Amino acid sequence: MREDRPRRAARWGSCMAATARHGPRAARAARMAWLSEGIGMRSAWSTVSRTTPCTICGKSDWCAVSADGAWALCRRVENGTGLHRLDKTGADYWLYRLDEHVPYRPSTSEPPSQSRVERADPRTLDRVYRALLAVLPLTSAHRQALRRRGLLDTEIMRRGYRTMPLEGRAALVRGIVDRLGVDTCTGIPGLYGDAQGTRRLWTLAGAVGLLIPVRDVNGRIVALQIRSDDPGQRSKYTWLSSAKHNGPGPGTPAHRPLYTGPHGDTVRVTEGPLKADITTVLGGVLTIAVPGVPLWRQALPLLEVLQPTRVLLAFDSDWRQNPSVARALAQATQALVETGYTVGVEIWDASQGKGIDDVLAAGYTPTLQSIVPWLHRARTLPEKSGGRPSHIVVEVR
Ligand SMILES: [Zn+2]
Repeated sequence: MREDRPRRAARWGSCMAATARHGPRAARAARMAWLSEGIGMRSAWSTVSRTTPCTICGKSDWCAVSADGAWALCRRVENGTGLHRLDKTGADYWLYRLDEHVPYRPSTSEPPSQSRVERADPRTLDRVYRALLAVLPLTSAHRQALRRRGLLDTEIMRRGYRTMPLEGRAALVRGIVDRLGVDTCTGIPGLYGDAQGTRRLWTLAGAVGLLIPVRDVNGRIVALQIRSDDPGQRSKYTWLSSAKHNGPGPGTPAHRPLYTGPHGDTVRVTEGPLKADITTVLGGVLTIAVPGVPLWRQALPLLEVLQPTRVLLAFDSDWRQNPSVARALAQATQALVETGYTVGVEIWDASQGKGIDDVLAAGYTPTLQSIVPWLHRARTLPEKSGGRPSHIVVEVR
């Protein structure tokens, strides 16, 4: 596995020489071989932050950098120099070699792993999260905020929003752990026990803010998202997770809102659980949520269960400025068309709102756009290189 620096340098040299001999295609293949050398073994990744944003896309969340600083893992941008990979959930990411001259250290082909403790099954997650929600309050500030976004009190109650408090968490959790057992609670993202002498003191992780239940296709609460009251340096939306306390992470589940309306033949797909809830209520069409636009593939298993004939894609209006959003939207369109759905892409003027929920709350109706330009984008954006399918190179346009 180990290779000394002069040999690596020689190899990089030979890939430059390949440019001269065989043109850009050979050089690219050589470069890919060189890039992939450093990857293959596990090492730690740390998530980017406002103070250390992603070197590739400049954003402060979601992407990561390897502990040795040699690799960036960007989930948004492909600039043609990285290795394209899919994580376990089918989401795209790209690995970029940051410093071509750093000493060799084993890196990883896996995205940052949350932890070694396994997450509980959906039934157990649902049972414990319901017990937790039952003892948490909903502050009037959060209730007002939900009303302002267009939800009636009956909807607010039914969907189970709560407030993650600053204080008193240990007391709340103690009752749940006593009742449901340590073994059950160990697998629940957000609950964790800290060793205090001979005993473990259980408490609850997570930012102070609005708690949003995330449901699977059967209505089970499988994760909780937090809309932080004061995100500061961090993202506004985070997941309730024990990953920082050596416990399980929540994964990145898709969300199927509660819906009792007519079982139409249309399902809409958007980004973010709260947005999907509000859009389902205001639009009268079941709107499922993927956790982020690049994670659009997570909608596929839900759609397979829901069996609509028509799928509407309603992603934020920033696809006009953000090429990675446009790319994801194009790929989603193509994949859904190929699966056999009738697909419509909903667009609106940015002045009507950023998200579909804002547009509906303001009383506007999105425009249904033809999929033709999107299919064209999907065909013209990616180009696969030869060789192993895990090493897809995307051409820079
Ligand atoms: Zn990035």
